[in-house]
Formats: sequence, structure tokens, C-alpha cells
Amino acid sequence: FNVPEPSNEPVRNYAPGSKERGSLQAALKAARDQVVDIPMYIGSEEVKTGTTTAIYPPHDRQHQIGQFHSGDKGHVTQAINAALGAKPAWENMQWEQRAAIFLKIADLLAGPYRDKINAATMLGQSKNAYQAEIDAACELIDFLRFNVKFMTEIYAQQPPISGNGVWNRLEQRPLEGFVFAITPFNFTAIAGNLPTAPAMMGNTVVWKPAETQIYSAKVLMEVFKEAGLPDGVINLIYVEGPDAGDVVFSHPDFAGLHFTGSTGVFQFLWKLIGNNISKYKTYPRIVGETGGKDFVIAHKSADPKALATALSRGAFEFQGQKCSAASRAYIPSNLWESVKEYLLEDLASMKMGGTEDFGNFINAVIDEKAFDKISGYIEAAKTAPNVEILAGGNCDKTKGFFIEPTVILVHDPMYKTMVEEIFGPVLTIYVYQANHFEEALELVDQSSPYALTGAIFSKDRYAVEMATSKLRHAAGNFYINDKPTGAVVGQQPFGGSRASGTNDKAGSMINLLRWVSPRTIKETF
Ligand code: NAP
Repeated sequence: FNVPEPSNEPVRNYAPGSKERGSLQAALKAARDQVVDIPMYIGSEEVKTGTTTAIYPPHDRQHQIGQFHSGDKGHVTQAINAALGAKPAWENMQWEQRAAIFLKIADLLAGPYRDKINAATMLGQSKNAYQAEIDAACELIDFLRFNVKFMTEIYAQQPPISGNGVWNRLEQRPLEGFVFAITPFNFTAIAGNLPTAPAMMGNTVVWKPAETQIYSAKVLMEVFKEAGLPDGVINLIYVEGPDAGDVVFSHPDFAGLHFTGSTGVFQFLWKLIGNNISKYKTYPRIVGETGGKDFVIAHKSADPKALATALSRGAFEFQGQKCSAASRAYIPSNLWESVKEYLLEDLASMKMGGTEDFGNFINAVIDEKAFDKISGYIEAAKTAPNVEILAGGNCDKTKGFFIEPTVILVHDPMYKTMVEEIFGPVLTIYVYQANHFEEALELVDQSSPYALTGAIFSKDRYAVEMATSKLRHAAGNFYINDKPTGAVVGQQPFGGSRASGTNDKAGSMINLLRWVSPRTIKETF
């Protein structure tokens, strides 16, 4: 049995006048012109509780585009029961049949649903057309197709050695119980991957998205249904995190957590699971991709223009709300003046505004909480001693949550914007003495608890080698002469260690293997 060999979904460029652009603009307009009523999806039911919350685009706070119905602890129990009820049929379905459903989901997203999921991501999460295309379309399609390939490889693994009247097998069972998927706001692809990866391996799932991603989560649920995913395999609920957690983490059939979000929440959940450990039938799998404070370090031999471009793109695309976004940079003194010039020139060309105008590079940050946190760091930097705002610094939430791409120059490499995750369009730069490269590497490695992504820029091979070696544990995804963002499924498996996660590499066999619990069978004749 051979599934189709995947290749990465080609990215559409939405060039002015193109058919693709016209069709996406029409989908965007259609979405803007209605208020979608969003139920929870539990088993075969679409649950409307009447307790609703309005949804507005982050860049247009007055224009309602939807409302979602939220539930309580009782709905969490219902969702768990639906997942457990669907489990026997689902895990006994031949894996080839399951694979077909996920390939169909990918094809629906690549074809008839592409505009709809992109428009939902553009409006609900304030991403421009290119960002939505890379995330909600291409990356999610790639996750699905590549995971199906990895799944095939897992099920087709060479069996253990047999002979002399003995037949040994390894059966890849799903986990015993249900999986809880908790997803972040910032990537529709991650929101889609977290419930589908365990489901692919025969598990059933309760999925709690971030409140600010519910608008596009609903479209994903429509696609799952249309592709023939049986009721109860993935159950989508909107219940406050702590309420959902109370029910899920004290349930004996809780078998796994697939989480992406902040380090603080993940650590809190891990402790909760630890406190309840004796209640579970089985040790739960805990997979979490969490925060980052991603670095760029340049050696004195680096190309200043390439470096400046990497900094502006790496820090400010997706409004810096990418876990991999460059947020701290270590620039050697010999390059600083030219890097600064190129960087400021590039920033001056970045237009900011709503996602409906395809010319805008910077859109709004996700919500008021994020706006207040990010602008708080910027305001504090304005008055801090020995800290300089080199570009941006203006924040305005009148129409939407807009924050200018902001560059901060510090003289203390431990200043808080250099070490804490801000998760917004803020880049902090520290200029080091060009001959002190080794000390700068030490600083990169030691000054942050995170280890998600990082980059070295250098034309000197010894410097590349030294950085690769000394920063071995400082990043799960390490880039040489490239920005630290934009990992492509199937090419650069993604995930970090230290406070950045369990590093189970999303979109890889490593991740899928976390959702099976193999049984060894020995038969004697
Ligand atoms: P977040 O605030 O941690 O929320 C993540 C999810 O956890 C949301 O669904 C949230 O629900 C839920 N949650 C919060 N408290 C909970 C609780 N007590 N019990 C159960 N669930 C709870 O993160 P975010 O703002 O959505 O996303 C940004 C963060 O994700 C950043 O730190 C970023 O670095 C990280 N991230 C990491 C990666 C990676 O691959 N390493 C990728 C993307 C994002 P509510 O929205 O309802 O609160």
C-alpha cells in the first residue's frame, strides 16, 4: 500500500489582477458581510448554548464577523464521552481508510476551501493574504500530507526478528483513552495539526482552541466533516481553559496532551497532570511546543544587507506573533552602522493596516491583552536609562490593535526586552565588540531560558562551526545565514527544547510516534 509521495503545497502569490487574488478578495468580502454563528461540535451534535461571545477582526474592532457559543464543564464531559464513544470504531478502522480521510481534508483545503480558510484567518487573526496562505493553506496541507506519509512508514515498519517456530510482531496501538488538544491563536496550521496528528494514529480527541482562533477553527471543522471524519473523532469545544482543564485532567481516561502555547500555561498544566497522576489508567503522553526568545547573532564577516533583511523579515512578518520570530539580535560593532541603515530603510517601506488591503505588510496584533503587554514593554523602554527606540514605538488601539514595528537598542544585554518573550513586533539589538565573538555566543546561550530558533550570519566557516557547536542546545531549529523563521514541513522539522517545549518536532515521525503505544506480540508454533 503506497500513499501518494507528498511534495510541499505551492504558495500562491496573489499578484494584482490574478484570478487567485480576485477569488480571495470575494471570499473576504463574503465573510465580512455576515455574522457567523459558531456552535461547539460534540459527537454528531452542533451545540448552541445561547451563551455567546462576539468576534471582531483584531484590525477592525467595530465590525462583528461572528459569535461563538461557549460551554461549561458539562460540555467538556460530553465531549470526552463522545471521544470515548467514537474510539472503538475509529481505532479498528484500517489505517489506510483513516489516511484517506486526512488526504481528503488536505485536498479540500488545497482546493474548494482554500479561500474560505484563508479569509477566515485574515479576518479572525489579522494576517495578510500571504501570511494566511503560508499558514492556513500551505502549512496545514503539508502537515496533513506529510503526516500521512510518516504514518504509512510507522505502520509499514520492519517487524522484529522471527524464526524457529516463533513469530514476533509489533502492533502500533493508539493510546488508551482520549487526547486533549489545546491550540494557540497564532497559527491556523498548528490548530489543525494538533488534533489531526493524534487522530490519524487512531486516537479520538477533545480540541480546545484559543478563543481568538475559534473563527477559523470552525472552518476546519466543516472541512473535517466534509472529508468524512466520523462524528466524535475530533470534538471542538469552547470552554474556559481552567474549567476544561479541571474536567480533563482529573479524568481516568485522559491519555495525552497535545499543546502549543505559552511556557507558563504548559508548565501549569504539566504540574496539574503530575498532581493527578495516580488517577489515570495510563501515563499520559505530554507533548508541548511553547514560548521562544529567538536570536540572530552575526559574526564580523557577515553580509550586512542580508543580515538586515533577515532581521526585518524575521522579526516583523506576522507582526512578530510567531513563536520563531527573531526578537533579540547580537550585532558586531564593525557592521552596526550599515546594518542599521539597511534595517531602517527596509522598515520605512513596511505598510501597516487592515488585511483587506493586500499591500499591508504589518497588520494588527491579536487582541487587547497582547496589545497591552507589547505596548507596555515599548512604553517602559522609552523611559529606561541606556535604552533607545530606533524605529517605531507608536501603538494605537482606536480602530484595531496596531503596533508599529519597533526596534530597541540596548547597552545591557540582560535588559528585559532582550530576554523575555514579548510575542509582538519588537526587535531588541545589542551591539557587541566585534572581536568578542565567543563571549557573544556565551551570552546568546546563557541569557534566555528558551531554545526554539536561532540564526548565525557569517561568511567565516570557523565562526559558523564555533556557533553551531557552542549553541548546540540554544535552539531546536538553527539557521545558518538565514532568518530563524519559516520552517517548511518535510524540510525543517520544527520544535524547541529547554523552556520552548518537549521538542517532538511537529510534522515529523517523532511527533506521530507519541500518539501510539506499541504492543509486542510473540506467537509460538
Ligand atoms: P496561551 O495564552 O498559552 O494559550 C494557549 C492555549 O492554552 C489557548 O487555547 C488557551 O486558551 C489555553 N489555556 C490557557 N490557560 C489554560 C488553562 N489554565 N487550562 C487549559 N488551557 C489553557 O498562548 P497563545 O497566546 O495562544 O499563543 C502564544 C504562545 O504560543 C507564545 O508563547 C508562543 O511562543 C507559543 N507558540 C509556540 C509554538 C511552538 O511551536 N513552540 C508555536 C506557536 C505558538 P484561551 O485562549 O481560551 O485562554
